[in-house]
Amino acid sequence: MGITSSGGFLVPQSLRMRIFAICFIGTHIPLLSFVAREAIRGQVAWGDIGILLVATLIGTAGALYGIHALLSPLKLSIEGVTSIGRGEPVKIGSIAGPDEISELLRRVNEAAASVHSRLSMLDQAAHRDPLTGLLNRRGFFAEIDPLFAAHIGGAFAILDLDRFKAINDRFGHPAGDQVLRDFANRLSATCPRDAIVARWGGEEFVVYFPRTDEAAARATLDAMLAGISDSPVGPPGLPPVTFSAGLVEAGSEPIERTAERADAALYAAKGAGRAQVLVERDLVARAGE
Ligand code: GH3
Ligand code: MG
Ligand code: MG
Repeated sequence: MGITSSGGFLVPQSLRMRIFAICFIGTHIPLLSFVAREAIRGQVAWGDIGILLVATLIGTAGALYGIHALLSPLKLSIEGVTSIGRGEPVKIGSIAGPDEISELLRRVNEAAASVHSRLSMLDQAAHRDPLTGLLNRRGFFAEIDPLFAAHIGGAFAILDLDRFKAINDRFGHPAGDQVLRDFANRLSATCPRDAIVARWGGEEFVVYFPRTDEAAARATLDAMLAGISDSPVGPPGLPPVTFSAGLVEAGSEPIERTAERADAALYAAKGAGRAQVLVERDLVARAGE
């Protein structure tokens, strides 16, 4: 259903001016009638008319001020609804008053808060892995895209849990899930605050270390390996779970290509006996010897 409000010839576009025009006509008809009657009688009392004109001018100024104050919440509502449309957070100031316009503003505020919280939930669902709470692949791309675009450099690693299928087979899927959750928490806690940690899929995780060389990133991942060997992740009674990782320099080419290189280094780490971090640069140097 559409609601239309059309203006005709001589009808002002702005609501403020329309209301003002109604008030103006309403107050001036008696005034003009009085002046016309006096003129017809031929006994214009200029003193009375002057007083009436001054009073009307003061009344007009008061009406203009009142209309402005009355309609300003409407302007805020329009701005609020425009922000909702753009998906931006809406912050409308304090809303006082029992009138319909204040009520409209209150409702706009409530609608904005509800739309914003639903959008955040959808955003969370689209970008987070529900099992571990880490970013998922989509969330990871969303976070690193601007950093890669700014060519800030860094290191990128893919981590894959070793022989994880055996954990599921021997101890059950829930135990496997617990290992994944604990591992994710431990990885986030071990990596620097500015590192971007994500679940790549299954039992694979990725980390982007911005503005970090491979040696520093490697030290972090080695600390992670040592940590889960000393204090295993997952429910009690499980054998220590280890991981293999491929680590590459990142930032000079698209993430997809960086991930392919890290995957190749990971594959080499698996081939070299698992439970280790292999740096692509070291592999290349070894191959050249
Ligand atoms: P490798 O050392 O070569 O990586 O061996 P792997 O057993 O870890 O690798 P494989 O690819 O054979 O098995 C991965 C397993 O991860 C199989 C799959 O069931 C399990 N997995 C993937 N996602 C989940 C999950 O969300 N929860 C649980 N419990 N298991 C998962
Ligand atoms: Mg795997
Ligand atoms: Mg694995």
